[in-house]
Amino acid sequence: MSRLRRNPRAEREAMRIAGGARPRFSREASLPVSGRPRRDPRAEIEALLVPGGVRPRLDRLSRGSVRPVRDEATSPSESTVQTRVVAAPAFLVAVVPDAPGGRLTPLDRQLLGAAHLLAGEDGAVLVLAETGGEDFAHAGADRFGLVATSSDYDPEVRAAVVAQALESLNIRHALFAESAEGGDLARRVAALLGEPLFAGAESLTPKLVTRPARGRRIEQRRAPPRLISLVADSLAPYAGPVCEALAVELPTPEAGGGAIVSAEIIPADPATVPLGEAEFVVSAGNGVSDIASFLDLARALRATPGASRMLCDAGLMPRSAQVGASGTVLNATCYLALGIAGAPQHLQGITGCEHVVAVNTDLHAAMVERAGLAIIADAQQVMPALIAALEDEP
Ligand SMILES: Cc1cc2nc3c(=O)[nH]c(=O)nc-3n(C[C@H](O)[C@H](O)[C@H](O)COP(=O)(O)OP(=O)(O)OC[C@H]3O[C@@H](n4cnc5c(N)ncnc54)[C@H](O)[C@@H]3O)c2cc1C
Repeated sequence: MSRLRRNPRAEREAMRIAGGARPRFSREASLPVSGRPRRDPRAEIEALLVPGGVRPRLDRLSRGSVRPVRDEATSPSESTVQTRVVAAPAFLVAVVPDAPGGRLTPLDRQLLGAAHLLAGEDGAVLVLAETGGEDFAHAGADRFGLVATSSDYDPEVRAAVVAQALESLNIRHALFAESAEGGDLARRVAALLGEPLFAGAESLTPKLVTRPARGRRIEQRRAPPRLISLVADSLAPYAGPVCEALAVELPTPEAGGGAIVSAEIIPADPATVPLGEAEFVVSAGNGVSDIASFLDLARALRATPGASRMLCDAGLMPRSAQVGASGTVLNATCYLALGIAGAPQHLQGITGCEHVVAVNTDLHAAMVERAGLAIIADAQQVMPALIAALEDEP
């Protein structure tokens, strides 16, 4: 049961005996009741927790709806588990993510956040992706449609399929990533539909979309049109309750290929790919003394080798491998840090990494705190063990 909050100052005033040179207090006096219930910070935090995700995230925007007092009848977990249901959407807002390899990029997640701003309570957010597999429900998809093409890479066909889906479902807005592939697709779709594209939007509300122009000296604004492409890091990803991600039937794409007859993906060599573009980086720090074993591990994992400044200063790794504020800022999906303490200058280089794994002998190292998964062990023992495990892989 929640207790009422005390007000010591009011209580002291009530006990004070009037008159006299020095303050005197009577213990017999009846104490005033504040009437305000005590706060329960633990329950408040529970109520702000966004369900799903690997790391706990708090939705501080829903502060107004937080119950300030513990309600014994409902447990906190019961109150937070909820699903966003849009049974009969008044309109659809489509998101066309890049999703390379079927995985949503940070920008794709920001598109979903932007789409929810446009959809509000009445509309539904529809993700038009080439493959399923990613957890679209947690990322904020009310609906999900497959816009698969027979070819791995055929921008013409993909644009035609997306344009057909947008037309057939009468989409109110469609959001594209302003990236190399997403930007190209958005322009092709706009040309096919004969509609203007508001490219490179930096802010978005249901009433207004803006972008900079003429070297950022001008800000262009207008009501959100149907086709918009969004630049990275301009809006927050969706952080609301889990969505339904109901499958939507799309019309069968019309037959006929584009001008590209054949295309194949030639995988880049991770050893030579620039650090800033690498998908998977394995870095060594001062805790790694066996550099040969480290390079073997990077090869076995098909990862790009990186290093902390300590190793580069010592000449054990090239300067181009340095990760951090005065080295390279990574854009990798996964970062494996071996024997790296996690100094602020180093952590600045991995802010964009989605998954961080740390190997360190110190449980309290900042890198261990930053990591989603940590191995508290000697890196010199972990490296050969990992190589052996990879060799055993069929
Ligand atoms: C202006 C400025 C810019 C900088 N820019 C950068 C930058 O861009 N990038 C950068 O990296 N640094 C940069 N630094 C340096 C940074 O402050 C740190 O000194 C550096 O990152 C530390 O490197 P480290 O973690 O490898 O070494 P240490 O700080 O020595 O940490 C070694 C870690 O390895 C662990 N360890 C020890 N033995 C083992 C073992 N056998 N197995 C597993 N773990 C073990 C230890 O517990 C420790 O956590 C900069 C500094 C300045 C002043």
